Amino acid sequence: MNKLLPTTSAGSLPKPSWLAQPETLWSPWKLEGEELTEAKRDALRLALADQRAEGIDIVSDGEQTRQHFVTTFIENLNGVDFENRKVVRIRDRYDASVPVVVDDVSRKGPVFVADAEVLRASTDAPIKWALPGPMTMIDTLYDDRYGSREELAWVFAEILNQEAKELAAAGVNIIQFDEPAFNVFFDDVKNWGVAALERAAEGLSCETAVHICYGYGIEANNNWKKTLGSEWRQYEETFPKLRQSSIDIISLECHNSRVPVDLLELVRGKKLMVGAIDVASTDVETPEEVAATLRKALQFVDAENLWPSTNCGMAPLPRHVARAKLGALSAGAEIVRNEFSS
Ligand SMILES: [Zn+2]
Repeated sequence: MNKLLPTTSAGSLPKPSWLAQPETLWSPWKLEGEELTEAKRDALRLALADQRAEGIDIVSDGEQTRQHFVTTFIENLNGVDFENRKVVRIRDRYDASVPVVVDDVSRKGPVFVADAEVLRASTDAPIKWALPGPMTMIDTLYDDRYGSREELAWVFAEILNQEAKELAAAGVNIIQFDEPAFNVFFDDVKNWGVAALERAAEGLSCETAVHICYGYGIEANNNWKKTLGSEWRQYEETFPKLRQSSIDIISLECHNSRVPVDLLELVRGKKLMVGAIDVASTDVETPEEVAATLRKALQFVDAENLWPSTNCGMAPLPRHVARAKLGALSAGAEIVRNEFSS
């Protein structure tokens, strides 16, 4: 991006009510088969139009093409049983019924490539596509085959790399791997998590990002945040390793969170998607609030590396709120941009 402070969204946008139940996380599709495929693409085009209308520079599909950021990808793999599920504890935080790895895992074929082609054909703006990261994938499954989190992560990294290469060939400019698990399993991150992520991103012709957040504003996450104390220093554990990694961009949570902003110094030199929009509240930020968060970040990030963003996805919010928050993000970024040119 040549533009200073290009805006983007870290993740999902709300789905239209004819596609899935609104204001509900991971709600099931209301259609199936061909109708579903077409409806997802219609929703993708609407999400794109909303982003452009609100002045977002780097756009995405708003994750209209997936029900869940991990399981929709896993549905397209061999070796995973979705019928006989098991209950596991996700990110040490909440129990969920998850699919089971029963055999060698492999990709049946391209998962999101056709959807990415639709997005590419619909806009000249730079496009970003999200995939789950290897560690977050294994944390959303029960493994009855490999017996080693690390071994399974390397298998997923290989599969993600195949998908990412095809997405890049379809014209995706930035591939973002979502790794909220990086905020929880620090030893794994250091021992193999970042290495597996780099394997997923290896040899790509486009830029790569990793999104590490404190999650959607659901109760389990909000309760977890209450246990983290007055300062959230989780990034301190992972940033030194990420600074040395091949990943180009780091997407992190800043606004209304207790992340000490000076931790951004630990990844100086990387591009940062700085979360300036709180996704756990329906209160729409004022442009001035967004600008204040960006100015704080600018103490520790060079302006040419700062991409104003949201803290996480906005799927559970009412559509008009999410759209207004995108508008506030653009307006706030514009305030700070003008301070540089004056
Ligand atoms: Zn997130």
